[in-house]
Amino acid sequence: FDAIEKTSPEKKAADVSAYRGVWVFAEQRDNEIQSVVFELLGEGRKLADELETELCAVLCGCGIREQAEELIACGADKVYVADHEILKHYRTESYSRVIFEAIERYKPEVVLLGATHIGRDLGPCLAVKAGTGLTADCTKLEIDRENRRLQQTRPAFGGNLMATIICPSHRPQMSTVRPGVMQKSVRDGGRTGALIDLPITFTEDEIPTKILDIIKSVGEKVSLTDAKIIVAGGMGLGSAEGFKLLKELADRLGGVVASSRACVDAGWIAPSYQVGQTGTTVKPAVYIACGISGAIQHLAGMQNSDYIIAINKNENAPIFEVADYGIVGDLYRVIPELMEALG
Ligand code: FAD
Repeated sequence: FDAIEKTSPEKKAADVSAYRGVWVFAEQRDNEIQSVVFELLGEGRKLADELETELCAVLCGCGIREQAEELIACGADKVYVADHEILKHYRTESYSRVIFEAIERYKPEVVLLGATHIGRDLGPCLAVKAGTGLTADCTKLEIDRENRRLQQTRPAFGGNLMATIICPSHRPQMSTVRPGVMQKSVRDGGRTGALIDLPITFTEDEIPTKILDIIKSVGEKVSLTDAKIIVAGGMGLGSAEGFKLLKELADRLGGVVASSRACVDAGWIAPSYQVGQTGTTVKPAVYIACGISGAIQHLAGMQNSDYIIAINKNENAPIFEVADYGIVGDLYRVIPELMEALG
């Protein structure tokens, strides 16, 4: 459905033919481009080719100009750069203002953001300013070429069905996209592209949010989206102690530990380890599910892994339906044997 027609009937439909180009918001933290951006560039390239239009990145920050080259190498035809002290740290008001002004001026047909903390904040704000709709947390994007429509698919109703949403009469068509779902673009250092500076039309005094201090997270950092090997545990572990065994296996394999939500709810492990519909979506080369039943909400976050190995003592556990290799047995017997075999 077209969200804006329901929420803001006074907003007139856009002249959709005036809008061209696929834009990717190039989210950075401490001037490091986030990995979801390369996934958006990979997906954006496909969409731009279907629409026979250009792929652009929008980069905001302070001292970030040289990152633009990397975005071009990874598929952007053009990079809009807003490089200014006022944009040093992400703030909703400053980032949305500079990007909205660029949207008004250059009229992109599609705008993609990562469904990260920043993307989930910035996307809705831009959509309201632009008077268009936004589909959050998309896991699949396709183009209806005849109507130049972006078909945005996302899980709905607790992951029980997939909803495909279109934005027929407003532009740009906006989506936040789940990290870890789309294929990253292939880097080509020989690519060339254009850099366009975006003006800053406001002063610090006009931005109501002031950053007084930044306190970095002190918790253990888990990068599930970048991990090549994941050893995930579920309630079959029996207690929080079980994660020690999984950590041992993960360390042997050069991987990281993850968890089902049930273990997070039980207080066995921190929420940052959760894989699934309400956790992180992962796509490692190998995903080893230990004592995880395979509920649909868990599968939603890991079923695109290259190889899935499941260890479960119930041969009818649904996890075996998506597993490439299944081991029926007690994980407390299987994992030590596995480690012994690894030497
Ligand atoms: P269980 O379903 O209890 O499975 C435990 C498994 O371990 C069983 O299959 C059992 O046979 C096996 N087992 C027991 N002992 C052993 C042993 N010694 N050796 C080997 N196997 C053993 N879940 C997520 O994971 N991620 C999400 O993001 C998520 N989001 C949700 C969102 C909503 C709106 C809802 C309603 C639910 C969500 N859930 C999510 C919860 C999900 O529905 C399941 O409840 C959860 O995934 C089950 O976790 P589990 O597989 O660890 O536990």
